[in-house]
Amino acid sequence: MPLVHGTEIFEAARKGHYCVGAFNTNNLEWTRAILGAAQEKNVPVLIQTSMGAAKYMGGYELCKGLIEATVKSMDITVPVIIHLDHGNFEAAKEAIAAGYNSVMFDGHDLPFAENVEKTKEIVKLAHAKGISVEAEVGSIGGEEDGVIGEGELASVEEAKELAATGIDFLAAGIGNIHGQYPANWTGLHFDRLQEIADAVDLPLVLHGGSGIPQDQVKKAISMGISKLNINTECQLAFAKATREYIEAGKDQEGKGYDPRKLLAPGTEAISDTVKEIIGWMGTRPVKLVPEEI
Ligand SMILES: [Zn+2]
Repeated sequence: MPLVHGTEIFEAARKGHYCVGAFNTNNLEWTRAILGAAQEKNVPVLIQTSMGAAKYMGGYELCKGLIEATVKSMDITVPVIIHLDHGNFEAAKEAIAAGYNSVMFDGHDLPFAENVEKTKEIVKLAHAKGISVEAEVGSIGGEEDGVIGEGELASVEEAKELAATGIDFLAAGIGNIHGQYPANWTGLHFDRLQEIADAVDLPLVLHGGSGIPQDQVKKAISMGISKLNINTECQLAFAKATREYIEAGKDQEGKGYDPRKLLAPGTEAISDTVKEIIGWMGTRPVKLVPEEI
């Protein structure tokens, strides 16, 4: 079973100046598409659930079981990391108990001292089971009540303090945004990314990877980003392909209404999107032999 925790994979990516994709799953189709694409490209992959997706799917144990069983049934041999995306304290604890390989504890909305204390607790719980931990400094922008916020730029001092808790990788707000980017977006703050990369001896994570121009992502990777989070791009690809199928009336031809047929174009679109991103991002084929857990 090629399930691994994230530490070695992301350290290797950092040293090699490349990046590993972290893709959000929502169901069986998403899971199969992401795992199949990584296998085809022969690269490690991080498959993650947000708290909302885990709730939608039926909880962390179900998510872990689904991904694990799919890895097995598809004969996946590339390293796979099952990760919790943006978990609060309770969610991180639940995902650790359910046997995820990696968790993000996102305490950015807590007072900073509390974020640090809670991160320490999660690190202790996670590392006791060989699970890697991501934390967030600053905040990632995004839409709230129809207004797209820029997020809060990560402070270098806070990045250093959070890194000292023993986390394995660090997400930093550098002008990146969740969801679709507005037309007037001013780009990533590379100066701040450089300061953080110089100050913190950890692989860094770029959230909101859907919609950042490729040249900016590549530059960020060269500066120490080792994990790129992609969610919206797969959602848009799935929705577009599914809409085209329906609009072409294919659901009304023969047994085109069969969900296995109706969901196939969307699933293929996710797979194509993941493969395309892995391609231009330059993720390297697996070299290290991961410890089996
Ligand atoms: Zn995020």
